[in-house]
Amino acid sequence: MNQLLLTAIAAACCGLPGIAPAQHELPLSAAVGAPPAPNRPADVSAVKDRLRSLGYVWVPTGDQMDTLTIHTIRLFQSIVQNRETVGGDGADGVVNVNGPTHAWLQHADSPKWRLMPARGEGFENYELVEQVQDDHDHGVHWLAETLIGAGAHYQTNYRAAHPRAAPIVVNDASRDVGRDTPDHLGHETGSMVDLRLPRTDGRAGGITVDSPEYDRAAARAMLVALHQQPLFERARLNDRVLAAETVTVAGQRRPLCIPDRQGRVHDNHIHVDIKPPRGPAPNE
Ligand SMILES: [Zn+2]
Repeated sequence: MNQLLLTAIAAACCGLPGIAPAQHELPLSAAVGAPPAPNRPADVSAVKDRLRSLGYVWVPTGDQMDTLTIHTIRLFQSIVQNRETVGGDGADGVVNVNGPTHAWLQHADSPKWRLMPARGEGFENYELVEQVQDDHDHGVHWLAETLIGAGAHYQTNYRAAHPRAAPIVVNDASRDVGRDTPDHLGHETGSMVDLRLPRTDGRAGGITVDSPEYDRAAARAMLVALHQQPLFERARLNDRVLAAETVTVAGQRRPLCIPDRQGRVHDNHIHVDIKPPRGPAPNE
């Protein structure tokens, strides 16, 4: 194997600084998706194959356009546009040749749809371990990586010294197919997750920030761990003490969490939002 090839492989798997990771080539001759896109058969099957390979496995195979594939293109657009629900301006269900959706479909870090991990170092997924009848178990791989990274950070930097502290316990993410959920206002685009509140007895959930069982020190350490993750965007929690504290990441001071401006939705859980990584250059 020559050196150039070895370097290319290393760049693709490890994201070496200064070397762009491998792109996925997706040549299109015309727009694909919602009418009046021409939907030429070869283009349609190429887009469907790409979506399926990224984990959107409900997309029907074949070379004909259909409503489920159009919905999935809108879901994909809503993910890369950092929306909480599917649709809105710019999520039009159309892949234009060399447009931003086409560029994201070819991007090396294109969002993959997946089942959230059941457990990892420092975290557990209540959805998959205990609440198996609920189906808010899915999300984008960026979210899975954020949870895995935060769990490891929390374990090393807090739980190792406080072994009786609760792990980070994940509750709802998104439903499969990114469909509308009656349980939440957002939670459609696989880019957000709810965490159960840690308790001083080492369990999680069933309490509010005002309960005597609430383990604020553990919640603080979880939030600090989340802030260290590159795609973490914000945490919503009505803990006035933690909301008044800040953490400095990459020279930026941020509040540990953000309380609700009105209402008390986030009294009994931490809502975590992630953001997409830096996307492809326009007309890439
Ligand atoms: Zn939430």
